[in-house]
Parts: sequence; structure tokens; C-alpha cells
Amino acid sequence: MGFLGLPGIIASKYGVLIVGQLVVNVSLALWLYNEYVHNPFMQDYLSNTWSAIWPLVTIVGVAAIGAGAFGAYRMRRELVATGKSNNIGIEVGANLTTLDICPFCDLPLKSISEGRLQCRNCRRYFKSSLPKVPA
Ligand SMILES: [Zn+2]
Repeated sequence: MGFLGLPGIIASKYGVLIVGQLVVNVSLALWLYNEYVHNPFMQDYLSNTWSAIWPLVTIVGVAAIGAGAFGAYRMRRELVATGKSNNIGIEVGANLTTLDICPFCDLPLKSISEGRLQCRNCRRYFKSSLPKVPA
């Protein structure tokens, strides 16, 4: 086996592969850069390509950010609606009546009109199913 041993041979084989790939990549990049610097047609082509695709790239980027924000918003809405976010006891019965509890006093809220609730103790107003928003 000589002085290298089996692991040394494998390591050096992979080392040669990695170095070889690196050399190929660097020379390709250098060739492309050289071509770009010395070839006005390629400069034209690249700038045209970029000006053609940048609006699309921008739209896709903004859409991705918007979709992420909307997803987070929907998840939050769902957590609030099911009462998982802040441990306010909300129970939805079979007839879909929502029983809210004042987050400040831990007391049941009195329903005063359609979608509006009031705490008997601190007299804060709440919208039903959105208990953290005092009117
Ligand atoms: Zn209260």
C-alpha cells in the first residue's frame, strides 16, 4: 500500500477531483469574463437580457414576499379565531355561538349587539371572535 494508505488515496483522489473542478470553473469564469470584456456583442446581449427580465424578476420577488406575508397573516387570523394564540377561552358550540372572555378580567363578555361584546367588569368593548381589539 505504500506510505499513503487507503484513506490517503481516497482523499487525494477526491482532492484531485475538487481541484480539477475548481480549475475548470475558474477558467470557465475567466473565459466568460474575458469574452464579456472584449466582446461588445455579448455586453449588448447581457444588458438586453437583463433589461428584458428584470421586471419579471422584480414581480416574482414582490409576489413571493407578498405571499409569505399573506400566509403569515392568514395563519395568525386562524390562531386568533380558534383561540390558540393567547389562551383566551373561546368555545364554538354546535350552533356556532362564540363565547368570549375578557382578556383583562377573565370574565365572560356580554353580547350587546351583532358582533359586539362588552365586558361586565371593565366595560371594554370587543368585536366577537377578535377579542383583543377594544372599540
Ligand atoms: Zn374586562
